[in-house]
Amino acid sequence: MHDELVRWFAKHQRLLPWRAEYNPYHVWVSEVMLQQTQVSTVLPYFERFLAALPSISALAAADEQQILTLWAGLGYYSRVRNLQAAAKIVVEKYRGVIPDDYEALRSLPGIGQYMAGAILSIAFNKPYPIVDGNVRRVLSRIYGWDGENAKQLWEAAEHLVQKAEPRAINQALMELGATVCSFKAPRCLLCPVQKACVAFRTGMQDSIPSVKKRTESVRVLLFAVVQRNRKDLVLMRQQKGLWEFPMFNELAPGSLTLVGTCRHTITHHRLEVKVYTGKLESIGGFEWKDFESVPVSSLTKKIFAAAG
Ligand code: SF4
Repeated sequence: MHDELVRWFAKHQRLLPWRAEYNPYHVWVSEVMLQQTQVSTVLPYFERFLAALPSISALAAADEQQILTLWAGLGYYSRVRNLQAAAKIVVEKYRGVIPDDYEALRSLPGIGQYMAGAILSIAFNKPYPIVDGNVRRVLSRIYGWDGENAKQLWEAAEHLVQKAEPRAINQALMELGATVCSFKAPRCLLCPVQKACVAFRTGMQDSIPSVKKRTESVRVLLFAVVQRNRKDLVLMRQQKGLWEFPMFNELAPGSLTLVGTCRHTITHHRLEVKVYTGKLESIGGFEWKDFESVPVSSLTKKIFAAAG
């Protein structure tokens, strides 16, 4: 099975920039961006990030505002904070060379079992397994498992990575999950491991892996105010490095006009934000900022757009 997968990957892999030369820094940045985010969304961010911060030492030395601006819109900002904290350690402790050692990698901020396995196998071609959502789905279907037993999945991935070129087999499993063995309507007729696949033979693709019950999302109503001054600066405050408009659980006093509504989902919260313009009664704790020159989240961008 590993041979079929590796051959299929050599022929059908997508040409992605982090696959160009398997530079460990590029692989690391791409893997951090790809956590919780799709390839198509990541591509322009990846290019911009590397153009601005082409090396691990450049990342370590960058100021926080710059990395947040480069990340703005990707969400889950702790990812990039951890990435920079880890880069600083690599520069100080390993003279800027990303270690190819499992324990050393695991000791860095933001690097868990998956990330260490991804860096070691993809960048350094070392036989470490990886199990992400795609690999879980592919392996569960091939072996006919429900996908609930993480230990079983990691052991299967470990077994496979010993048998083939680590970089190729691990990426083949992920790529197959992303492009052929999709969650809905897997394209089994194009699949290189169809013959070995229990789910295909038994027609169980739709029920494997079992779907975890979704956590009910909570609806949250918020009120945001986009207040401008004569110089066209807007009133904002900084929260964990990003700038945001005044936002309240109930409408704050002032002379305000409702101009729009925007919706945004953060993990299990469905936000509905009523957007107002005008003048707040109290502006303590806020500063006047040029919207275009500060790092903001995609929610803040939506609010700005709604304010017109
Ligand atoms: Fe997935 Fe179908 Fe291939 Fe099995 S045969 S691994 S279900 S695409």
